[in-house]
Amino acid sequence: MVSGLFDPFSLLKGQEHVLERLDAMASDPPQSIVIEGGTEEERVALSLYWAMRLNCKKADVPCGSCASCRQIMDLAFSDLLFFDGREGPIKIADVREARPVWGQPPNGDGYRVTIFAEAQSFGVEAANALLKSLEEPRPGNVFVLAAPQRERLLETLVSRSWVVTMAWPDIRRNNAEINEWTSALAGFWRSGRGWFERTSPKGAVSKELAQQVVLGMQRELREALKGEASTPVAQQLSQSYDLRALRRIDLVLCQAQDSLNTQVAVNPSLVLDWVATRLV
Ligand SMILES: [Zn+2]
Repeated sequence: MVSGLFDPFSLLKGQEHVLERLDAMASDPPQSIVIEGGTEEERVALSLYWAMRLNCKKADVPCGSCASCRQIMDLAFSDLLFFDGREGPIKIADVREARPVWGQPPNGDGYRVTIFAEAQSFGVEAANALLKSLEEPRPGNVFVLAAPQRERLLETLVSRSWVVTMAWPDIRRNNAEINEWTSALAGFWRSGRGWFERTSPKGAVSKELAQQVVLGMQRELREALKGEASTPVAQQLSQSYDLRALRRIDLVLCQAQDSLNTQVAVNPSLVLDWVATRLV
């Protein structure tokens, strides 16, 4: 059905519950939706699915093969604005430039869809400018904000949007070394002991190790968030914390990941200590 490099349909296998949710909203789409969960690629796929759903020449399901669907998959559709936060921060100038376009009805007979991929890369100013734009009626225009989790977006943007949560990424088991670290971290949250002796020796934590530990804890957390506690750490998390607290842990881990990924002079031991102590 679909040719080309990017095939949203195969990326969305196993996400039927969100596709159904979007399908149900398609006849009267909300002005703005937030897409969270899944992987970066899956969030882009779902954003494009939504654009196809609102513009496909065939009724009910996006066919993936009509001119509109194909142009949307190629990001070459005249009623699609795609801001790619994966390539760098979305700036206020980008939002300002698009504003006159949003004031116009769409070119075709569907909806103009504006997608912000990895919208957590919005600067505060740009986010506020977008918020202003969303406060005005934009007939025929719908907006998509895709981000790992809603807490990473400006709260006022989220509160104006429908939130669609994709299944969290698949879990691969942590190896024995990482497992020791995640167990120690979870143990520290429980007992307040057994952590600093791991991170304080000079050179004990490399940047790579810190990244692995954060990623390892995210795996455990996602397991706990899915309500499947197949490892001792995930089991402890799901027994000790409610959904809200688990999401807060996820946010802290995402922030730690960001600073490990983006700050050159970061001290990996301190990042792990920060994660450990933020939750005590
Ligand atoms: Zn189509």
